[in-house]
Amino acid sequence: MESIQLSKRLKRVASYIPNNARLADIGSDHAYLPCSLALKGDLEFAIAGEVVKGPYDKALNEVQSRNLEEVIEVRFGDGLEVIESSDHIDTITICGMGGALIRDILTRGLSLNKLNRTETLILQPNVGEKTLRTFLMSEQYKIVAEEIIEENDKIYEIIVAIPVEEDIVYSDHALTFGPYLSEQSSDTFKKKWEQVLDKLAYVKNQMNKSQHPDERKLEKINQEIEHIKETIQ
Ligand code: SAM
Repeated sequence: MESIQLSKRLKRVASYIPNNARLADIGSDHAYLPCSLALKGDLEFAIAGEVVKGPYDKALNEVQSRNLEEVIEVRFGDGLEVIESSDHIDTITICGMGGALIRDILTRGLSLNKLNRTETLILQPNVGEKTLRTFLMSEQYKIVAEEIIEENDKIYEIIVAIPVEEDIVYSDHALTFGPYLSEQSSDTFKKKWEQVLDKLAYVKNQMNKSQHPDERKLEKINQEIEHIKETIQ
């Protein structure tokens, strides 16, 4: 059976999934991530969860055409509701969505007792990383790894978190920039924040064209610009 060429983004996500994981890939679309791992014999079991019929059908087709039904179950449902306690899931991937949506999926999963708070979370928000880090902190998840990559002119962040007993406290700086990413300060990290600076400069410019610019908002933007500049210097 032909192997699957994962995108660079999903390859990096896959690199954080332990060997022989029991994985729930939520918002799996084509189920490329679990299929690729299963073809290499790296998975014990996986759920490919989808809430939209088209992607669900594609995932089902991918799994069936590769004869992977014994390892991967494609399940239709909203977020973590596709997980049963008897699945003994130990790793959850939620990738390619906004940070707020990932947070909402996890919040609902917690309220439905779909998380037993032992699972490693491997999250790849397309936007809203601060929202997601803030949620992880408030739910006592410790960020244990982060990565920032560029693919096809888009920049993506990957956040790996585990549940812990102790309180987790991240500064506003760490929540905004990422505790590891800001330390590493890679070229891709700098590029991302230079793009944010460009956007803020544009917003500021537009606001200054107004006869009565909102001074408090302008002040906030100026502070944000300074904070970013100090961080990527
Ligand atoms: N995870 C894949 C990746 O990173 O390449 C697919 C990303 S795709 C942009 C997002 C997928 O998440 C879509 O197929 C969408 O149907 C699914 N999705 C969005 N909200 C969901 C939810 N609440 N539960 C399950 N799937 C969801």
